[in-house]
Amino acid sequence: MILEEFVADAEQGRSVLVTGGNRGIGLAIARAFVENGDRVAITYRSGEVPEGLLGVKADVTSEAQVDAAFTAVEGAHGPVEVLVANAGMTRDTLLLRMTESDFTDVIDTNLTGAFRVIKRASKGMIRLRKGRVVLISSVTGLYGAPGQINYSASKAGLIGIARSLTRELGSRGITANVVAPGFINTDMTAELPEDTRKNYLATIPARRFAEPTEVANVVRWIASDDAAYISGAVIPVDGGLGMGH
Ligand code: NDP
Repeated sequence: MILEEFVADAEQGRSVLVTGGNRGIGLAIARAFVENGDRVAITYRSGEVPEGLLGVKADVTSEAQVDAAFTAVEGAHGPVEVLVANAGMTRDTLLLRMTESDFTDVIDTNLTGAFRVIKRASKGMIRLRKGRVVLISSVTGLYGAPGQINYSASKAGLIGIARSLTRELGSRGITANVVAPGFINTDMTAELPEDTRKNYLATIPARRFAEPTEVANVVRWIASDDAAYISGAVIPVDGGLGMGH
């Protein structure tokens, strides 16, 4: 199908792509867009593609794999109108033990990975003259965390991307926003030592961790028409942990 036919076919829902949408927060986000009636694709590296989603295999550290994934999604659903850059990793350790590859691997996935997918998505969004880019950052991007110099730097960098993108492409009907979750119950936080979990629970005003759907609902909203005039914003979903963003 050519671009114009996809545009005419808009009642079928928007073409949405969520990176790392096979589990955790990404999967909850993908399901929220499905509930919305959108046509949803996810990238995955391992495991199975969850039911009801179009899965395209891609490692965000590979420009070629990202390009191939977009080509597949465009073929099936049309140009990506909503991009959620969610894929991310941690490799926590204190500064003196952190190797250069601990630092650069996390940056390559979380920050440069987001750059790769946003750059690829922007071509279609510019032609469509509309688009929503949502970057999944973290409370630690602005708040900091011991053992997360690599991760915090990567997540803070996403804010710079969203704000520069807003200034570059804001006049083309494209918004770029950051959602900054606090502690969410996923495989990523399941790895935390019990002591660390207890310490964080004590400092979170809401006194609980959140479920992935609580992030997903905010992402769905920031990508909706209701949020058309919000761009370059950092939206915390952290139970009050990082107030002051
Ligand atoms: P999970 O560890 O549960 O899932 C991570 C996802 O990212 C998986 O789908 C994984 O794919 C994918 N991924 C990791 N590296 C790559 C890569 N190189 N290329 C492609 N995909 C990759 O994490 P969460 O769901 O908890 O986190 C999702 C996002 O939210 C991340 O960006 C994370 O930093 C952020 N976040 C999470 C918080 C939390 O409390 N959980 C708090 C704040 C932010 P695969 O299954 O193949 O490994």
